[in-house]
Amino acid sequence: MNSIAKQVSDSKVTEAIMPHLKDPRLVRELAYVNGKWIHGSNDEAVINPASNEVIGHCTLLDTQQINDAIDAAEDAFPAWRGLMADERAAILLRWYDLLLENKEDLARLMVLEQGKTLDEARGEIDYGASFVRWFAEEARRAYGETIPSHIPNAQLATIREPIGVAALITPWNFPNAMITRKAAAALAIGCTVIVKPAGETPFSALALAELAERAGFPAGVFNIVTGDAPMASRVICKSDKVRALSFTGSTRVGRLLLEQSAPTVKKCSMELGGNAPFIVLPDMDVAEAAQAAVDAKFQTSGQDCLAANRIFVPREKYTAFLEAFQNSMAKLKVGNGFDEGINLGPLIFERAVEKARDIVDDAVTKGARLLAGDQTQAPGSNFFMPTLLADVTPEMKVYREENFCPVAGVLPYDSIDQVITMANDTEYGLAAYIYGHDIRSIWKLMRALDFGMVTVNSIKMTGHPVPFGGVKQSGLGREGSLHGFDEYSEIKYYCLGALPTVSGS
Ligand code: NAP
Repeated sequence: MNSIAKQVSDSKVTEAIMPHLKDPRLVRELAYVNGKWIHGSNDEAVINPASNEVIGHCTLLDTQQINDAIDAAEDAFPAWRGLMADERAAILLRWYDLLLENKEDLARLMVLEQGKTLDEARGEIDYGASFVRWFAEEARRAYGETIPSHIPNAQLATIREPIGVAALITPWNFPNAMITRKAAAALAIGCTVIVKPAGETPFSALALAELAERAGFPAGVFNIVTGDAPMASRVICKSDKVRALSFTGSTRVGRLLLEQSAPTVKKCSMELGGNAPFIVLPDMDVAEAAQAAVDAKFQTSGQDCLAANRIFVPREKYTAFLEAFQNSMAKLKVGNGFDEGINLGPLIFERAVEKARDIVDDAVTKGARLLAGDQTQAPGSNFFMPTLLADVTPEMKVYREENFCPVAGVLPYDSIDQVITMANDTEYGLAAYIYGHDIRSIWKLMRALDFGMVTVNSIKMTGHPVPFGGVKQSGLGREGSLHGFDEYSEIKYYCLGALPTVSGS
């Protein structure tokens, strides 16, 4: 038996995961550092949220091992940045091909540890892979600029240089794409990376490392460290060798990491929480708007930073909209992500179900009407039935907080000015949705909404060519698009003065 097969079969991982996958070697329980699979001193169970079954264990590295990973990434940096963009792109494109060749296994692994539906998981693998191809191609066009000189006889220019070792800390809700969206940009421009994935979903991350190894990334260029999050983050933030930190997760943890990164003045990019408004205009067809709002709210069981949390409806259409929303919601099926026709899988853990209950109780106590969401129908302890709250007010948690669960809050409004004020009445500023026809109202809203991304008459807004990111406490920086390189590169300016005249020349 070779060592890879032994690693897999030694573990409980075999029974729970193997029947679902074609390629068992994608399941790795060890961390990936400097081109090697390494054991920590301890491990942690990985749980299937649909069944609460232990599906495997993931090793936990200690402080020294995280520091070793940082050293390995630093050592690998000069050679990796020294490759031509075409050479780095070739490796990234091999990784891209491997991600798509293994799409079904990667998606199934994600359903097992994250709980989302198989269709959503397949969509995430495509989405995640698209960033790898995009940045591989863009790396060849990471141009600098020449500048008309204001200094007599001088030549002025800028080039873009990779910043160095980049640390990427990612959440469980998109366990593949939140890694590739960062790593592809960093690697393509010439950085080496250390990824710290969420504790709930390490297998999706480690499968990416297995495929990165097969794609031919040199040792130390792509590392995955698993371990206690506060410890790992402290080590990463404290290290002067880590020059960029890119985090996707809650605003609470984002603030903490910014604080911890201040002493070493890292370049920080933050993709944090959201509290998206969904604004229906008076001229919009109610059934169409309701279906779009249901789609924007309940994807990934509401555990999505883009989820439509606060749905604003013109008062004259309020009753009809609530009825249409209920009708659309009634079609949603809740269950195991592998089952046919399921729209919502479980929440990630029981704590999330408790939070959902608290949000509903808080709203009902403060006067909201509970129009749908019979929790006695939930098919397991981590499931929460899609819930509709009407007459939501700004005093309620469902309006104020990023609820991150399948609870929709709806409220009426009386004028465009009023809805602008209400939509902006949040510390968050990630995404906003508008549905309607009147171009004057749409334009006014697009300009006035304090959000990094505003979408009109379309639920789909993200993708590799567009800059993803928020304003206010939803974050700093952008991912995807040409701007995605900014987080992992520095602009170096050259001033080439006139050479002194050599006598006789
Ligand atoms: P989280 O609790 O902030 O965790 C995110 C990452 O930070 C995980 O790797 C986690 O590790 C780590 N972490 C947790 N506590 C930490 C601490 N005290 N010190 C250092 N690191 C720590 O967020 P989450 O619950 O996984 O994800 C949900 C959040 O992500 C939501 O707020 C959502 O809006 C946001 N999100 C934003 C975007 C975006 O693009 N703007 C996209 C997706 C998600 P462990 O899991 O090991 O604890």
